Amino acid sequence: MTFDQQETFSVEPVAITAQDRLEEFGMSLSPDIDYDLEKIFPKVEGWGWKVPFKSKYKLLRHLESLLKDCLFEGEKVLFLAKGNQHSLTEAVFMGIWAHGINHTVFVLTNVRLLMFRTNSRGKPKKTFWMVYYNQIVHFKGNWHGMLNLKLKDGRRLSFSGFSRQDRKEMPTIFTQALEAFRQSEFNPPVSQSLENLCSHCLDKVSKDEYFCETCGAKFWSPKELALRSLIFPSWGDFLMGHHFIAFLEMFGGLSSWTFLLVRLSGFLTGADPTEMVSAILFFLIVNGSDAMLTYHIARKGLHPKSLPAERGESITIESQPG
Ligand SMILES: [Zn+2]
Repeated sequence: MTFDQQETFSVEPVAITAQDRLEEFGMSLSPDIDYDLEKIFPKVEGWGWKVPFKSKYKLLRHLESLLKDCLFEGEKVLFLAKGNQHSLTEAVFMGIWAHGINHTVFVLTNVRLLMFRTNSRGKPKKTFWMVYYNQIVHFKGNWHGMLNLKLKDGRRLSFSGFSRQDRKEMPTIFTQALEAFRQSEFNPPVSQSLENLCSHCLDKVSKDEYFCETCGAKFWSPKELALRSLIFPSWGDFLMGHHFIAFLEMFGGLSSWTFLLVRLSGFLTGADPTEMVSAILFFLIVNGSDAMLTYHIARKGLHPKSLPAERGESITIESQPG
């Protein structure tokens, strides 16, 4: 540069990043997890950015310990959002109550979609899944916020209830991730498109298996749960941790058993035997439909029967100095 050349300086406003905002609020995320913060927190300024920012952070914090156990080396978290899985059968049989057992957090990484069943506030329960991107043949978000997935093995999944911002951001991130995965030629083996993950160690548990070979966790089979609901409605749902639904179903169980026992005692003391038939029919309809519904819900994922001690404890290795 010669002395007669003039340097011009311009002061450009420095763009605020998601990391700046996290520091500003005293929020911190685990350094052990690779996050794409700009995608997770797409809006860090302007009108109304704070509420979605803070709720996304809260959701991340609920899931961090599970993500640490679950993510592969080199796997990066691109996005997460909370929605609700839709099932026509459950909507018909359970009405609005079906909503309560289907809260699901989606985590999009660079290789797969992870799904965690949670409570309404996004706190994880015990049922988790994953879908590698090459198992998704069709992905569509429609105008009223429904997200539909068609999987390679023919299974279809529908979700709704995502926030407005998530509905806007998710399709783009999903499409980009699917495209990047296709180019990577990574072709992991699967036992079904929507793989179950162990409630304890988050390793894959293959199709129709109810035992985790990695950590020894045991899970209820849908038949075991349905049989319990057939004996007494609500028993199966109670074991799956759906306590509110189980409480409602309990009234069905109490009435079918009471009716049956009253008619049985009448029958034994010489009343008209045809009266017994209606009690048996009522029992079969109430308990049978509850058993079918339990079977339908139980088939969707894993529900722990017995888990090893606290997560992490079973794999603790004590280092001896010297
Ligand atoms: Zn396990």
